[in-house]
Amino acid sequence: MKLITYLENGKEKVGALTADEKAVRPLPFADMLAAVEAGLEAVKAAPQGPAAPLEGVKLLAPIPRPRQDVICLGVNYASHAKEAKWFSSDHSEKPVPIYFSKRVNEAVAPGGTIPRHGDVTKELDYEAELALIIGRTAKNVPLERAAEHIFGYTVLNDVSARDVQHAHQQWYFGKSLDGFTPMGPCIVTADEIPFPPALDITSFVNGERRQSSNTQLLITGLGDIIAELSSGMTLLPGTIITTGTPSGVGLGFDPPRYLKSGDKVECAIEGIGVLCNTVE
Ligand code: MG
Repeated sequence: MKLITYLENGKEKVGALTADEKAVRPLPFADMLAAVEAGLEAVKAAPQGPAAPLEGVKLLAPIPRPRQDVICLGVNYASHAKEAKWFSSDHSEKPVPIYFSKRVNEAVAPGGTIPRHGDVTKELDYEAELALIIGRTAKNVPLERAAEHIFGYTVLNDVSARDVQHAHQQWYFGKSLDGFTPMGPCIVTADEIPFPPALDITSFVNGERRQSSNTQLLITGLGDIIAELSSGMTLLPGTIITTGTPSGVGLGFDPPRYLKSGDKVECAIEGIGVLCNTVE
């Protein structure tokens, strides 16, 4: 199923896209977090209301107001590690995963605007990422059972202010400005994507391809992430974990190619969809 959060007549609803993806059928959950907590089986079995054409509703981010900060993986593709000069490409040992988080008061909707924040940053950048949503409480989850704890997947743009990241020697502020987490267009439920996901991931700025990779190239895979984090930290349903970005971000060019006002940023993952946003 492809699940969306949307506004219809000013009311926020959760629904399932029809097979042709041209309409949505509402589901009886107060919001996406309630659907996630009910569980995948309950969502699949829930009665669906009459289909409404998508052009008559307004898409929101699938989880517009995450309950907690988004958990992020840093430099989790070898190609991006190289462009970010994090470690040499001939690094022979598997690096220890870098975890950080990102505050999200409100995730930016598909089609929504990424604030420019010109008074805070001159180095606004994009990062196309595969994000997973935890579906059931995860505590001490063994690797072979990690997949059972995933509710679904979405596309997330880990918008970043590079100069703020570097100035504070810690990424939290530079990753957490208002509007720095566009997400969507939908959540694809985990039963629809073979585990571990091997999906093409791309990004485009004003139609020019910038990033192109596949999620099977993650350095630390989804199972290892869930197993490791849950070994000491309980992951609650609705937790969003975004798995890192491949090479091709603005920072990686010489000279860097940061975002400017009016730029159209598209982040796409095979089987999930295209998340398109415009810079203020
Ligand atoms: Mg990132």
